[in-house]
Order: sequence, then structure tokens, then C-alpha cells
Amino acid sequence: EDATADIVVIGGGGAGLSAAIEAADAGTEKIIVLEKMLNTGGTTATAQGMIAGYETKVQKASKDEPITYDAMVANLMNNALWKLDPALTKITVESSGQTIDWLIDRAEVEFQPDALVGYGPLKMMHVVDGFGPSLVEHLTSTAEKAGVEIRTENKAVEILMDENQNVSGVVVETADGTYTIHTKAVILATGGYSYNPELTALLDPEKAGTFGIGHPSNTGDGLIMASNVGAALTHTNHLMAVLKDYEIMKDYNGTSNSANISKFIAQENLVLVGQDAKRFVDEKSGGYMTQLLNEPIFDQMHKEGAEFVWAISDQATIDAAEIKRGENLAFITADTAEELAAKMNLDPAVLKETIDNYNAYAAAGADPEFKRTVMKPLASPYVAVAVVPCEIITYGGVARNENSEVIRADNTVIKGLYAAGEVSANSAYMGFTLSNAVTWGRIAGENASAFVKE
Ligand code: ADP
Repeated sequence: EDATADIVVIGGGGAGLSAAIEAADAGTEKIIVLEKMLNTGGTTATAQGMIAGYETKVQKASKDEPITYDAMVANLMNNALWKLDPALTKITVESSGQTIDWLIDRAEVEFQPDALVGYGPLKMMHVVDGFGPSLVEHLTSTAEKAGVEIRTENKAVEILMDENQNVSGVVVETADGTYTIHTKAVILATGGYSYNPELTALLDPEKAGTFGIGHPSNTGDGLIMASNVGAALTHTNHLMAVLKDYEIMKDYNGTSNSANISKFIAQENLVLVGQDAKRFVDEKSGGYMTQLLNEPIFDQMHKEGAEFVWAISDQATIDAAEIKRGENLAFITADTAEELAAKMNLDPAVLKETIDNYNAYAAAGADPEFKRTVMKPLASPYVAVAVVPCEIITYGGVARNENSEVIRADNTVIKGLYAAGEVSANSAYMGFTLSNAVTWGRIAGENASAFVKE
């Protein structure tokens, strides 16, 4: 049955719930949160519950050296290879401390005391007691107590616009049929699109061939609905993917076990080769952020029309690192480079030359081909596994300004449309995804509330 609301929030994850609470606190009366799944939570519920922040109550009470705003911004921008929007990122970091204190004071979220966890060199991560699920529970019950109506198994499918190109409603699908909510303001908080590899390939053909392993609810609905009403999408070439075993992933159906082979990839003698049996990158150039290798790996796959590249290490390394063989890792093993190549369907002479050259570089401490500096030699027996980058978080999305207002390609505002969290582009990177959801949810809630009162 059709309904009316002051604000409709689409998506009941960290961003949507925070937006709804903030809007209610700003005095907005009828707020409806639409959640397409059986429960609120989305990716937020599966998160480890680690939130970056500085000058928080938790930090002040701990014995840790305070960390600075400058250090946090530098960490975020460097890790993201400066692909983030500096103005939006500044807001994410500046608000991060208040965001954590707000979670404590407003949503009664409890953090592990004296347990700030390092992220790279910075001790900035606050750990929610009970992790992601507890965070979602607190936000959900706080929203309900504030009078927000949460409609689960209600999926938004379309944003309606009036003749002046202002938001006028949302079309909603349920098991019982379709209805419309009339409203002047919509906050998109639908999460990212890391479970929709087709959309990824459409938005960025360079990433074709990825597998989606994010939360099953993250299918990019918000990007599609927003773009249908004229919103710009930006930075859709920016996502986080982790390398996984191709043999496992090609049968992936959302439930099969998708072992993360990051430990294998992290080995100091790891070598990557294409179907031409040649190396194509400094395999250690990603440092501890191995996902930085995704772009050269995608390039190599597409150049060769292949669905994966090969990762090679050796048995001694695997044993030392206690990397378990088994149903989750499809290792190929052989005593010589030529035998290994035969099993991988590569040219034996070329693979032998690749491994011989690499070992010579490792011995000399210099790689004239790719300037790799971290090298340990490979020894027989060798081990190979086919790997493919699988997307887990998307950083691009709906373009919006510092007030969370969704904008068109010409920077004009779509009146009444807001976006927050992973659906929106470009204000966070690893370590900051939860801060980003809560902080920008609150900004969207506050501004949407002011807008409907106008
Ligand atoms: P964020 O961290 O940005 O809040 P989450 O993934 O935690 O992102 O939450 C997004 C939520 O939005 C999920 O619970 C998801 O089920 C919900 N969602 C996604 N698309 C729709 C839609 N079309 N209608 C309603 N809810 C949606």
C-alpha cells in the first residue's frame, strides 16, 4: 500500500541506520528505512568491527601515544595511492573521533577498552565489543527507539522525480507486490557493488573477469537507481580485490569456500607469471597491501585473454609457513621447472628461463627487469597455483558533495537525493570503511532533515 514519509533511507547498514538516527534527532518525524534483506546489517554486520578514529574517549583513556590528524590523512591517502577526493577524505578523518564518541554516547556501542589496534604504523583502530553484529544491533535498536520505522524485505527499485527534477518518491518491491512511498528526500545507503562483477565490468572494463565476493546484498542497486535519475558515478575503477584460487572461484556460487591465499602470495619468493610463462610485475611492489597488484594482474589477464595468472613458490616455503594444501587450494607441484610448466600448460623452456633468471636476480640482489628488491630464491620442488583478483570492497560510486547531496556530472545537485557509505564515491579506503559509513550517514541524515524542513 502506498505510503508517505518525510525521509526514506534505502539500506539498513551502518550508513543507513546512522542517517536515520541523526535525522530523527534533528526532529524529522516520519523516517522509513528500507532494507531488502531479512535483517539489517549488510556488510557492516560482517565487518570485524574495527573503526579508525583519533582523540576519542577510548584513546584518551588508553596509555597509547595520541595519533595526529595529519598522520591519519597521510596514511589514508597514501594507502589509496592518492585516488581519493582530498576534501571529502578530510571530512572522513576529521569526524572520525566524534563518530566513535557518538557511537558510544548515542548508540551505546561498547568498545574494547585499552585495545587500540595498529593499522600499518598507526594505532588508530577501535574494536567494537561484539564486532560488526553488535554494532548493527546497537544502531538498529537506537533507530527504533528514536521512532524510525524499519521495513525489512522491502527492496527499493526506483527513485521517482517530479517535473522539476526533484525527488518525489521511491518504488518498493516486496513479496506481496510493488508500492510507492511519497517523499521529498531519499538517502541512498545501499552499500557497494562488490557482489556484482557484471556491473563492475560494465563500469570499468579493465576489471572484467573479477569475481564478486563481497556481501551478497552489495549488488550496486543504489548506483543503478541514482544513475537512472541523472547522478554521476565516479572512481568506479577503484576497488579492493584479494587474490584467490581460480580453480575454487570458477565454481563459486556465493556459498562455496573461497580460501584466501594471501599467505601464499605474501611469501618472499613468490613469483607471478602469465600464460607466456614470463613475469610481468615487481611482485612485492604492493608491500603489505597485496591488492595494489590487481591492476597489473588484470592488465596481464586481458592482454593474454586469460582468466587468471600463475603464482609460483616452493614446497619448503609452504611447509615453513604452514600453508595447508587441501580442498581450498588447488596446488600443482613438480620437481623441475619443465615438469611444472607441462602441468600448467606453459612453455617449459620459457618457464625454466624465468625461474633461472629470477634465482640469479635473487642471488645478486638486483632485478634488472622489474626492479624488485625483496627476493628469495625458489628451490625444487616447486608449487604453482592459478590466481584471480576477487573484489571485496568498492571505492567508487555515486558522486556527492560535502553535504552528502548527490550531484550530476555538471556538479549540480539533485534536490532531495543524498548518498552515504559504500554506495558513495571516494572518501575512504581500507581501515576507514566503518568510519566512512557512520560519519557520512550522519552528515546525510542531518542535511536531509534540514532540507525537508525548508
Ligand atoms: P554501508 O557500510 O555503506 O552502510 P552495508 O553493506 O553495510 O553498507 O549496508 C547496505 C545495506 O543496504 C544492506 O543491508 C543491503 O541489504 C541494503 N540494500 C542494498 N540495496 C538495497 C535496495 N535496493 N533496497 C533496500 N535495501 C538495500
